[in-house]
Amino acid sequence: MPRSSHLILLSAIALLAAGVVAALAAASEGDAVTGPTTDAPAETSPEAAAAPTSTAPSTTAVLGFPAIADHGEVRAVRTPVGLVLPVLGGEQGAWQVLTPCATSAVVPGEPVLGAHVVLDPGHGGDEPGAVGPTGLREADLNLDIARRVRALLEAEGATVVLTRDADVRMTLATRASIARTMSPVAFLSIHHNAAPVGRSGVPGSELYHQLADPESKRLAGLLWEEMQEHLAPFGTDWAIGDDPGARARRSMRTGDDYYGILRNAQGVTSVLTEAAYLSNPAENALLETEEFRDAEARAIADGVLRLLRTDDPGSGFKPTKEVAVPAGSGGGVRGCVDPPLA
Ligand SMILES: [Zn+2]
Repeated sequence: MPRSSHLILLSAIALLAAGVVAALAAASEGDAVTGPTTDAPAETSPEAAAAPTSTAPSTTAVLGFPAIADHGEVRAVRTPVGLVLPVLGGEQGAWQVLTPCATSAVVPGEPVLGAHVVLDPGHGGDEPGAVGPTGLREADLNLDIARRVRALLEAEGATVVLTRDADVRMTLATRASIARTMSPVAFLSIHHNAAPVGRSGVPGSELYHQLADPESKRLAGLLWEEMQEHLAPFGTDWAIGDDPGARARRSMRTGDDYYGILRNAQGVTSVLTEAAYLSNPAENALLETEEFRDAEARAIADGVLRLLRTDDPGSGFKPTKEVAVPAGSGGGVRGCVDPPLA
């Protein structure tokens, strides 16, 4: 290193040191002004030290997740490769389970008692779902968002199970069965939309709830509010379908919930989320970014937390839509090949 560089380096260190001193001085002035509430030495005061512990339990009771009950029977197991599968029978070391392709197999695994929230990343394996202009696969995006939501909810003390935590194909039957066996307070099937019909000034998010469950409807309305709040600030060229908002879809053929995942999960408060249009280049570009993915995950996690912690009714509700055509064939058993289970 030449001598001049040494001098520059030493000058930089001196400036840095001066800066640190100045910052420390400013900080102590700030402490003097703001008083003991933000002052670290409060630890030395018995009253101040006792305050947080005396308020913490009530806060936890109001905002926390309850302990998950042991039903005395094993309803699901986590196999050595990390799949959570519903138990049909068997015993420790040799569980008979419902496989991803909705057949049965005998596997080893550790019991999973239940979960506060079950997240269902749509598609996977040889069912990629929508594919964006940049080649972004909906299956991969759905899984990434689900993992981010899981991290946010776990930070709040929730136990979270994903119906798939890998790029594997999973039938709707097995996804819904996992939801039912976990007895969660909420089950969210996470998707991203394609084929817009127009333009919108705000995110064209679609939240589908179950026909008969008022809590499902409330959760959809809360998720709608959170999506608008967290996604609208990105202010891009939004796409829109004909179903933005929170609504149910009824099959005209069966009179029941149109979407198989919501129908099969009846008994569990469930919502299908379509946050943004993967097929719209502007939204595809956003969906490639960490910032947008974090915002979407925050919206979903906050919707679930508000379901649990508030009586807020939600908004954005639209009339139930009657649908004549059958739902897509994705998620069926035909051509399904199970991944390694153990
Ligand atoms: Zn999808």
